[in-house]
Amino acid sequence: MPDRIEELRAQIAKYRDAYYQENEPLVSDAEYDALERELAELEKSQIGEADDGLTTKVGGSASELFAPHRHLDRMMSLDNVFSTEEFQAWVERVGDGPFLCEPKIDGLAISLTYRAGKLVSAATRGDGEVGEDVTANVLTISGIPHQLSGSGHPEVVEIRGEVFFGLADFAGLNASIVAAGGKPFANPRNSASGSLRQKDPAVTASRPLRMLVHGFGAWESPVATQSGVYELLSSWGLPTTTRFSVAADAKAALDYIQSLEQSRHDIEHEIDGVVIKVDELARQRDLGATSRAPRWAIAYKYPPEQVNTKLLDIRVSIGRTGRATPFAVLAPVRVAGSEVEFATLHNADQVRAKGVLIGDTVVLRKAGDVIPEILGPVTGLRDGTEREFTMPESCPECGSQLAPASQGDVDLRCPNSKSCPAQLRERIAYIGSRSALDIEALGYVSATALTSPLEPAEAPVQSEADLFDLTLEKLLPIKTHVLDPDTGLPKHDANGTPKVVDYFRKKDGQPAEIALKLLANLEEVKSRDLWRVLVSLSIRHVGPVAARALASHFGSLEAIFNASLEDLAKVEGVGPTLAGSILDWWSEDWHREIVQSWERAGVQVAIQGHQGPQEGPSGPFAGKSIVVTGTMESMSRDQAEERIIQLGGKAASSVSKKTSFVVAGPGAGSKLARAEQLGVEVIDEAEFLNRLAAAAN
Ligand code: NAD
Repeated sequence: MPDRIEELRAQIAKYRDAYYQENEPLVSDAEYDALERELAELEKSQIGEADDGLTTKVGGSASELFAPHRHLDRMMSLDNVFSTEEFQAWVERVGDGPFLCEPKIDGLAISLTYRAGKLVSAATRGDGEVGEDVTANVLTISGIPHQLSGSGHPEVVEIRGEVFFGLADFAGLNASIVAAGGKPFANPRNSASGSLRQKDPAVTASRPLRMLVHGFGAWESPVATQSGVYELLSSWGLPTTTRFSVAADAKAALDYIQSLEQSRHDIEHEIDGVVIKVDELARQRDLGATSRAPRWAIAYKYPPEQVNTKLLDIRVSIGRTGRATPFAVLAPVRVAGSEVEFATLHNADQVRAKGVLIGDTVVLRKAGDVIPEILGPVTGLRDGTEREFTMPESCPECGSQLAPASQGDVDLRCPNSKSCPAQLRERIAYIGSRSALDIEALGYVSATALTSPLEPAEAPVQSEADLFDLTLEKLLPIKTHVLDPDTGLPKHDANGTPKVVDYFRKKDGQPAEIALKLLANLEEVKSRDLWRVLVSLSIRHVGPVAARALASHFGSLEAIFNASLEDLAKVEGVGPTLAGSILDWWSEDWHREIVQSWERAGVQVAIQGHQGPQEGPSGPFAGKSIVVTGTMESMSRDQAEERIIQLGGKAASSVSKKTSFVVAGPGAGSKLARAEQLGVEVIDEAEFLNRLAAAAN
């Protein structure tokens, strides 16, 4: 037998054992699926059949933990497809719709036996013929009726469904397990399986498990379709999914698959694809099943969002307001379409709650555009060399003692805001960002070169005060490391030495384009809106929304900084914490120097023609709270919000009953849905422009 086949069989058997018996996957599902596919193909092409049966059996067998339960009707797995073409090929085999489409819940299969409407037993799938009797545990799951409602129940019916954990519940569970000194679960699916298969039903009862029905076993259904069955079961009080849809044909099924992929993260639990079933039960019976899966159903699997990778290190970064954030350095891995090398771990409590050790293999999740997150460790792969992370006591960049900003704060901060190189670099890079002065040539690499160059010894930017005094003479001598644009870490040459470049000077000694562009950009941004200047000062809690409100109310930095705490706090969306933070900031001499130096350099620190602080908001939109969502053609969302504030309104970021109206453009999502739910008026861009024009007259 070819070596590779033997190797694959051994590997797959080991992974199945860990997954089904130990409840501790050693590889991600995507890696496992790829191995199974490879084995199935090799078996077919090289030895003509799958005589070992690994790829043709329902995974897992019943453990010794529970009494065996023989299913009246076999429990099956599902065959998978991974592309439209594979789906079409399945449709060719089974014939076109109608199809019932529903989310594929990433949980654990369960079979409930009801006799004359009473729940008499519950069992896991096991090898499909014999599962584990987990009745006592299942009785503790809320939402599973012990007695069916309504009437006309059959003498016996096997109800099939999925037991699962919600994503938020999963995070809470792992944190409490680690706090009690236990081993965290690698992912929600495993937490469902681990929580259900407990010797002590009281433990299961303490876990917020849920269940959804997706089929039936032994039973002569009185209705003719799968969708009809769901309606009947629902009328008996069984929890069926509300997300199913009957698609008339393959094209409609593909539409469902695509649309659910878009909204998969709005679902409170994990899904790993869509299950498409021939809706008519008579056709299901005609199509039958293979040894492991029905022919009348198929799982369309979405690209994986969970992968396993090595946690190489946990380091701490210092943000622009001094916050110390542990982050994971990972062996680079591709997930959800991008390469991931770092993942934030938020704070030391989070690291503890996740139970990860440096050197662990970890499960990494990246859901769509959301930032990557470490779910937990693969404890089964530990070899004893892993070590615990301890939060450093001092700042990794300037050595100052880290401390919470106030008592009870979970975050530690570096208090050296004036000269900590990390804080300065981050603040300077922030000034260049879109939320602040939006300076194209002032990105992270430029900020690093300006604040911590290898040469000259004295950095030309030692505080924000120096930024607008930059000259070509100051820029040209700067040498810096070549930083990787994605990671911000130095690149190395073939000998492993970090690469060094003249960042602002060409080889012939002439200024590089970035130098000229930076100086030109700095000149241009001197006349940017006042709120942007205020945001650029990195005052804690002062983001674009508060800055806009403050700028339009007071009209100048001078008026803002000379205002009393009460006057500041009165401004819509400001409040006492933010007002206090502004006054604290201004009490530092070196902060005042920044404002003075910028003003000397010609940065506009007042709105031309502003009448000075006004009593309460005035203008045609006064007292109105308006939410802008989605995209607009004639202006950016920022510009729309700016106009609202100029007209005396409040540009709010979330919809509530108090919202006056919502301006919704294409792509609007949850905010639009919330407005509709609350009955808040929704207008489109054209109507918004009308109202702006009317208000301006
Ligand atoms: P499966 O999970 O891919 O699909 C079958 C199961 O889907 C059914 O048993 C059913 O319980 C469930 N399901 C969820 N929603 C459903 C719905 N709406 N309708 C019908 N069924 C629904 O197959 P499987 O045989 O349970 O397990 C194989 C899976 O386990 C693969 O995804 C594989 O990657 C994974 N696995 C992973 C490892 C590992 O080491 N990571 C090892 C073994 C198996």
